[in-house]
Amino acid sequence: MAVGRWLLAIAVVFALATSALAQDADRLVTSALSNIRAYETLSYLTDEIGARPSGSANAARAVQWTTERFREWGIDAHTEKVTVPHWVRGDERASLVSHNDQKIVLTALGGSIATPPAGITADVIEVNSFDELKQLGTKVKGKIVYYNNPMDLELVKARRSFEAYSRAVIYRGSGASRAAEFGAVAALIRSVGSASLRTPHTGAMRYDAKQPKIPAAAMTIEDADLVHRLLGRGDRVRMHLMLTPKTLPDVESANVIAEIRGSEHPEEIVLIGGHLDSWDLGTGAIDDGSGVAMVMETLRLINDSIRESGLRPKRTIRGVLFMNEENGLNGGRAYFAAHRNEKHVAAIETDAGAATPTGFTTTLKGPAVDEVMAKTKVLDRLGAHRFETTAETGADTSFLIESGVTGFGLVPDPLHYFDYHHTPADTLDKIDAKELAQDTAAVAALAWTIAAE
Ligand code: ZN
Ligand code: ZN
Repeated sequence: MAVGRWLLAIAVVFALATSALAQDADRLVTSALSNIRAYETLSYLTDEIGARPSGSANAARAVQWTTERFREWGIDAHTEKVTVPHWVRGDERASLVSHNDQKIVLTALGGSIATPPAGITADVIEVNSFDELKQLGTKVKGKIVYYNNPMDLELVKARRSFEAYSRAVIYRGSGASRAAEFGAVAALIRSVGSASLRTPHTGAMRYDAKQPKIPAAAMTIEDADLVHRLLGRGDRVRMHLMLTPKTLPDVESANVIAEIRGSEHPEEIVLIGGHLDSWDLGTGAIDDGSGVAMVMETLRLINDSIRESGLRPKRTIRGVLFMNEENGLNGGRAYFAAHRNEKHVAAIETDAGAATPTGFTTTLKGPAVDEVMAKTKVLDRLGAHRFETTAETGADTSFLIESGVTGFGLVPDPLHYFDYHHTPADTLDKIDAKELAQDTAAVAALAWTIAAE
């Protein structure tokens, strides 16, 4: 009898603790939704600082500004050194000399070398795959190889945009070196995107050390289609291409790290991260200023709630604003090198825009997913109570995940993400302040739930 009563008492205490935890998470969500502070942070990063490519003065300004904001909010913050590449775009021009000098709108891929100062004039040859390139072999010698690989828009409509992106983007990464192997003089891809108003899409490419380096650029979808139509008619298409990018010496930059120490297990870390650097064409609002704003606001919300109610998570919540996600991942690598021996309980990454939250990807499987679902019912309020098991949950945190840390990745509705991603149209106006607050609430609720117990 006495034992039964004790068990009941323990069960009641446990239930109360669990519901107190849920109430705390719920309060955090309510505070996140009651303001547009994340949007204000994003607005400064994008409108006042602007594009933040690795190695740029603006990236350094972003490091300084975010560190100062954390400190001003009463949150411990410091920077950790990251050496980053410094690639600068320069001018980019192309026209069809075979077709009345029609302008072709394109943009150099990140890391591309320049054309000779006078540019390159050569015939364009289209391929749809590396197999086709191989079949053509030395027929591409002296020519500009054009990879025409559209994103699968049916997949995008099915909200599988990231899958469609990763299938199409392979030609951006290694297309130049593969074409150079057969003597091509330049490589062009069709912009990897799900929409275009003649907005070219940039992104990192890399050279194979065994092949000669040739310049590489992405034509807008409209211009890529034009070249495709002309070639389809059997026309000879000859292009003049001029690109003047430069790779300057590496720059010493930094990750920004801010944290709220846990009350009982300060050595156990729940990491939340986004990346501070952006491409240079837009101002990096969706990629990934919004992730940075969510991470910063999550720490601020939790810090506020500690001030107001003494509510402190048992584990440490650490925000990491990574540098150089776009063209090197050196921030993610440097963080891992410095912190790999610490105990990371989870790594939550947000680098997928700021549309309405739908849930998270996670490296958890089976019953572990059910368990996290049961603890995070608060996400229902946000329509974000979906956990999908995936191998990868983020790029900057991938080193931690590979070492066995549990990963989560925020999944905002991906339908329009690749309409703007890496283009000049990635600007603040694409972000809805309320949706950004909902995303922040989802990240805060998940981080809090894991850190609180
Ligand atoms: Zn990103
Ligand atoms: Zn990106």
